[in-house]
Amino acid sequence: MNIEIRKNKVHSIERKHPWIFSGAINSEVSEIQNGDIVTAVDKKGNFLARGHFQHATISLRVLTFIDQEIDQYFFNQKISNAVEVRKKQNLIRKDNNICRLVHGEGDNLPGLIIDYYAGVAVIQCHSIGMFKSVNLIAEALKTVLGKELFAIYSKSSDTLNKDISDNYLFGECETPHLALENGVKFNIDWITGQKTGFFIDQRENRLLLGKYSKDKKVLNTFCYSGGFSLLALKHGAKEVHSLDSSKKAIVLTDDNVKLNDFEEKHTSIVADAMDYMKDLNKEEYDIIILDPPAFAKHRDKRHKAIQGYKRLNAHTIRQVKPGGIIFTFSCSQVVDKYLFTNTIIAAAIEAGRNVRILEQLHQPSDHPINAFHPEGEYLKGLVIQVD
Ligand code: SAH
Repeated sequence: MNIEIRKNKVHSIERKHPWIFSGAINSEVSEIQNGDIVTAVDKKGNFLARGHFQHATISLRVLTFIDQEIDQYFFNQKISNAVEVRKKQNLIRKDNNICRLVHGEGDNLPGLIIDYYAGVAVIQCHSIGMFKSVNLIAEALKTVLGKELFAIYSKSSDTLNKDISDNYLFGECETPHLALENGVKFNIDWITGQKTGFFIDQRENRLLLGKYSKDKKVLNTFCYSGGFSLLALKHGAKEVHSLDSSKKAIVLTDDNVKLNDFEEKHTSIVADAMDYMKDLNKEEYDIIILDPPAFAKHRDKRHKAIQGYKRLNAHTIRQVKPGGIIFTFSCSQVVDKYLFTNTIIAAAIEAGRNVRILEQLHQPSDHPINAFHPEGEYLKGLVIQVD
């Protein structure tokens, strides 16, 4: 099936942006099914791109800008390329066997996420087209990873449609499953956990926290399964408090603390982070981590999100010990790194304390950003010192 692209919209495709919006299409599309593979052509019928169609604002997610079939060979090539990059980065090794294998547009596979946990791949589709291709994707993973893979779990009911059944496409694995991040053990449950079971994107930032943690008292807010807490403990923190509003998350954290034998130095708190920071006993903590969920998922929520980040950070800057360190993050794609930095500066002004930016943080190399799709940049953070 072909769709014609309006003349003034062709340049965006020529610049290899992987999304084609509904307004760019000059064809009748009512016959096309969600998830169909569709070819975009110019007015003269010349090939422009091929991808997955969906009746939505983003109508076509481009899989290729060259005239090739989207078949088993295509997925083998793309997944092989993605895995090769992770291998170059040495992300699968004895003391680390957790990484993201495929990061959507960043790996030229829009709508597809694949995370790897010690021999198990968890596939999460964000487009119906990818979901329809899931068996080809599973075959490609088996071919490319060989003995490094013993199970594949498909989990798209959260992202696509509650009626989709999540299931193993290859092998099986009991959950929770033990995997390693930089020498720390984590129990991972992709079936009951958030997203694919673990927030892999904070790996490098958690390791950096380790460098600041020796003999320090640390508060990890929005802790989920305790990633930051565990890396701080592994690197010699004196004491760590982990906070989350979800009891389920705290159970995961406690389990991971136990798994690594750090119970004596750890306390969990079920609370709302904003309330806790507001009422905190001043100067209790040397280091505080703020890693909230996305406050704004859409542009129209950005203003409110900024107010939220500012309030949370102002409370925290007010409360941390003199000379204390704050690791502060935003994973809202619509808040870029400049806006985020300005928000933290505004929070420092409101708190009335001197703040220095020591480090500027971002998403790791297994969450690459396609240069032609800057929207793929979402995670940003700062390490600040409060004098
Ligand atoms: N830092 C974590 C990932 C954070 S995910 C890691 O490294 O794995 C965001 C977490 O924030 C979720 O666990 C969610 O339950 C929690 N959360 C959401 N709103 C909250 C609130 N108001 N107060 C405390 N925790 C909250």
